[in-house]
Amino acid sequence: MIVLTRRERAIPPHHTIAGRREGVGLSGQLIISLLSPAIGFLFFVAFFLLWLNQRKLNYSLSAALGFLLSASGFVVQDILPPWPADLQRIVANLLFLSGVCALAIAPLQRRQIALPVRTLSALVALTMVSLFWYLVIQPDLISRIAIVSVGLAIPAFITVIKLLTVSNHRYSDRLVLGALCFTLALFILRPATGFVVPGSFGNYTASEQSVYWGLVHFTYVLMTVTLAIAFFVAIAFDLTDELHHQATTDALSGLLNRRGFETKAALALQDCQQNGRPVALMIADLDHFKGINDTHGHAAGDDVIRALARHIRSLSGDTAICGRLGGEEFGIVLPDREETAALATAGAIRRSFDTHGVTISPPPTVSIGLVVSASPATLSTLLSVADKALYDAKHRGRNQVCVVRQDGAHPPDSL
Ligand code: GH3
Ligand code: MG
Ligand code: MG
Repeated sequence: MIVLTRRERAIPPHHTIAGRREGVGLSGQLIISLLSPAIGFLFFVAFFLLWLNQRKLNYSLSAALGFLLSASGFVVQDILPPWPADLQRIVANLLFLSGVCALAIAPLQRRQIALPVRTLSALVALTMVSLFWYLVIQPDLISRIAIVSVGLAIPAFITVIKLLTVSNHRYSDRLVLGALCFTLALFILRPATGFVVPGSFGNYTASEQSVYWGLVHFTYVLMTVTLAIAFFVAIAFDLTDELHHQATTDALSGLLNRRGFETKAALALQDCQQNGRPVALMIADLDHFKGINDTHGHAAGDDVIRALARHIRSLSGDTAICGRLGGEEFGIVLPDREETAALATAGAIRRSFDTHGVTISPPPTVSIGLVVSASPATLSTLLSVADKALYDAKHRGRNQVCVVRQDGAHPPDSL
């Protein structure tokens, strides 16, 4: 993406790619050179439409901007009529550079990583000043190629490093990372190839037909297509993840819904049972909840459901699987907890709930049915045993924990 000066580019009109601006008809090379901006503009439209449709996809807007700016760079350089002085070269390179910055920013926005705006602004300013120096003050093509190549590689490098520091890479993250590494490699290999292949930069009379300018177009197409495919796949994965999250999460409590709970709880149960580890399951149900709704209104009832959900989540531990089974009933699977530990957790949930951010009077209470799995059993078996324990807790006067062993026997509990 280096742009030569007019002096370096004293091209015979019938040879130049930009033949049109010299008053000559369309040339084959002009048509080929339209390919790069055309691809960039197409991707701009695609990502812009995606953003218009899903405004929260801010990284789609950055990608669209990146494709638009870089494609515009080729229009300014290859297609527009010449501008006075060396303004055209400055503007074209500024467009390339800011386009690459926008493309490098998009993956960071996607992972909510702080954007290196100051670093990138300083980089663009420094590159443009150096470029101006070697374009106007002390014209030197090789220095300009080196400067612009470094300027283009740094944003991609920063993004790669920042993405590598984010743990828990999903498949889509690796794909975006791979596309960025590929872009970075292109930015390094392109000038390297130019320097190695003799005569790559032309003889200063037909720069745009030089091997190097061909490389610029070729690598731009490779870069845009690779990045666009990676971004599209990442967006598709993100939207599928979100749909899955919505399908398995309860909107009111923020816990898993019944479907999500059953899926995750069955997996946790299987894992514990296969490895001979204990696992406990409890069902917690608000007492006289219908009365709370009737007395304080449905909205206050919703607040109580949310409060109990937060309370359960905070006391159950990181490994617990917590879900809202329906209405005012919650399921909690506690992997690796035998009877005493599970009883302690259930007791803590029951005892301290009435003070947990609930402002209605009398404070709501909760009854809990608990089962501890001693031998392999299905989730539905354990749920029905816990339900029986819950029924017993209600029957005995509510606001208490009742344990039933997997075989239906009551241990000597007192909570
Ligand atoms: P018990 O102590 O025996 O559990 O009695 P209860 O009143 O808590 O149980 P019951 O099954 O009679 O009533 C449950 C009520 O929960 C009835 C229903 O209107 C209410 N409910 C279900 N889902 C929601 C919800 O999402 N928000 C609110 N505010 N109320 C709900
Ligand atoms: Mg109830
Ligand atoms: Mg109920």
